[in-house]
Amino acid sequence: MNKQALIQADRDYVWHPFTQMGVYREHDPIIIERGEGSYLYDIDNNAYLDGYASLWVNVHGHNHPKLNQAITEQLGKIAHSTLLGSSNVPSIELAKRLVEITPERLQKVFYSDTGSAAVEIAIKMAYQYWKNLDAERYAEKKKFITLKNGYHGDTIGAVSVGGIDTFHAIFKDLIFENIQISCPSLFQSEYETEAALVEGLVEEIRTVIEHHGDEICGFVLEPLIQGATGIYAQPPHFIKAVEQLCREYNILLIVDEVATGFGRTGTMFACERADVNPDIMCLAKGITGGYLPLAATMTSQAVYDAFISNRHADKTFFHGHTYTGNPVVCAAAIESLNLFEETHLIDHISKTSALLEDNLNALKTLDYVGNVRGYGLMFGVELADPSDPAQPLAIPTVERIIQTCKENGLMIRNLENVITFVPVLNMSLSEIQKMTDIFKAALAQVLENQTV
Ligand code: PMP
Repeated sequence: MNKQALIQADRDYVWHPFTQMGVYREHDPIIIERGEGSYLYDIDNNAYLDGYASLWVNVHGHNHPKLNQAITEQLGKIAHSTLLGSSNVPSIELAKRLVEITPERLQKVFYSDTGSAAVEIAIKMAYQYWKNLDAERYAEKKKFITLKNGYHGDTIGAVSVGGIDTFHAIFKDLIFENIQISCPSLFQSEYETEAALVEGLVEEIRTVIEHHGDEICGFVLEPLIQGATGIYAQPPHFIKAVEQLCREYNILLIVDEVATGFGRTGTMFACERADVNPDIMCLAKGITGGYLPLAATMTSQAVYDAFISNRHADKTFFHGHTYTGNPVVCAAAIESLNLFEETHLIDHISKTSALLEDNLNALKTLDYVGNVRGYGLMFGVELADPSDPAQPLAIPTVERIIQTCKENGLMIRNLENVITFVPVLNMSLSEIQKMTDIFKAALAQVLENQTV
């Protein structure tokens, strides 16, 4: 198809996710044809720095020869075989690697293919865990403690444990009931210090548990950063405090590392920063280096053991997707883990993260740049109205900034009035510099009418 035919067919046939199609169809879309390292190329061969890592997934750059090779080698053997009742080589090898690199308590790997599915599985496992232990004693356990502004995906179970009204309010009649705790982000709270915020939240959680303990299956949270709500960073010791409460009251701790896992926040997993050892961990996005869809729900030995029986339909976890443990996808994930080691990527991120943070913080001298927050290579910059900095910048203006960035070779996204920086994880220092330079120039062009 030529360019015009592609644009027309995109308008005619494709329904884009999380997109108001009425607005999308007003402009010609950028149609990506290929990628190379940190760059995306459209069908006119225009290059864009991938500042959103193709939706927070890309780790080692696009079109990486070693990832391509691992995938094609596996394709030469078999593209798919099922994990329902049998096994395949890459899924076994990957499970062993995942258990080795994740917190010690996590001993088993249950595969799926999206972050939402990984969370859906975690919820069902946590619920059934208590029933398998003692259905009568734990009959009331059917709720989860969740966080205000949390996001865990778009399937009904994942929406049920979410807390973003814009995305979730419409589905209120379909979802099951949970208990929501205040958002653990200082700028969203009335507290003055992180220590006071965490202390206040601990009290709030303790009160909930003391009143509803019998109903609670688990505590579900995004550790360190609530991403989709606008990159809301938490004090690192918040998750540690939650872990201590979960241990004290015998509640399963379920961490959703779909976005934060695989180096995104500067350590391999966000849990590492606060030395947290969860019962269940959800992984997806960066697990294959951002190449192919794969997710995993990892559990402790104790959770796994509660599902063991000698009889077929007794205590069995009746959940499994057709492509669970697909060998090609697992082969990509194994190669991605090899590359993490070979390229010392976590060390590299400590340098690029410092540069990104410094450059974004330097923008705070502009009175329309508000809160800057994040960890690793996951940052959000809050934009205000230049004529009234107490107000958020209007969305059409935010969109003009994003558009100007694209015209100058940077692909980034906004979450409402927050510009998000979640670049390809192995971006070089000069590419990080270029990314923030383009953003700064776009701010000047759109908000101060200065030409770039
Ligand atoms: N959990 C978190 C923390 C996420 O950020 C996301 C997606 N952005 C999901 C779950 C859902 O993942 P997926 O889009 O792969 O279903």
